[in-house]
Amino acid sequence: MNQAGGAFPHVPNWARRFLSQNPADKTWICDTCGEITPFQFAQGWYARRRCACEQQAEERRQRQQVPRTLAEAIREAQMAQTYTWLGAGWTASELEAKTFSAFEPARQPEAFAEVRAFAFHPQGDLWLYGSYGVGKTHLLAALANLRRSAGRPCLFASAVTLFDAIQERIRNDQDYHLLLKQAIQTPLLLLDDIDKPKVSAFRQEISYQLIDGRTRRGLPLAISSNCSPAELDHYVGGAARSRLMMGVIPIPMNGRDYRFGAPSGGGGSLPAETV
Ligand SMILES: [Zn+2]
Repeated sequence: MNQAGGAFPHVPNWARRFLSQNPADKTWICDTCGEITPFQFAQGWYARRRCACEQQAEERRQRQQVPRTLAEAIREAQMAQTYTWLGAGWTASELEAKTFSAFEPARQPEAFAEVRAFAFHPQGDLWLYGSYGVGKTHLLAALANLRRSAGRPCLFASAVTLFDAIQERIRNDQDYHLLLKQAIQTPLLLLDDIDKPKVSAFRQEISYQLIDGRTRRGLPLAISSNCSPAELDHYVGGAARSRLMMGVIPIPMNGRDYRFGAPSGGGGSLPAETV
């Protein structure tokens, strides 16, 4: 007889804290399942038994805790960033509702078809240009949203907010290169209103780094402007423009004003606004 282990040497001491030799101590009542009788060990020790609803709850908990792979976790984080990557205060989450199905194709049949085709196989640079209110932002967002729904990360920004976010970082002595790196390396970058920021040598340089960096990596870019490709030099500089023209798919979007339902008065481009 093992004296140290007591009368029931097969049940280790640490386990006895969870057990009882009195079955009534380990019998309990579940509101749903009724009386739950204990689990009985060989040497007259009893353990509390789970009822069916406790077991189901435990299985649910375990399913939710299925460990994700690192790649899945990174992708999920990237997917969540599309409209929020510039940081708090620069989000454009209202664009999540602008899908292809929320766009009336009859308004811009050619642009609709081209952007949708690009959404399935983004290659080169897609360039939507035309006057205000023809649906450029909506189609760019629809492109981003279709990629996201397919599990493909992308980043969206209006050029004005991108430059504002960069300048805010410079003002606060923070490094803006991380933003630039994200913009250059994301699988698909969407830049709305690229001719809207005020023109400066610094912004032209940033534009060039962006476009050149993506072109060298063979990564697609989708942009919109009011000005035509011929007029873009003024806004992003000649170097960025010539880099951009290498693989561009230009899509003119003029005609009816999409926002107000009124004719936009032809295809003339408007001067860049200062914001
Ligand atoms: Zn139960």
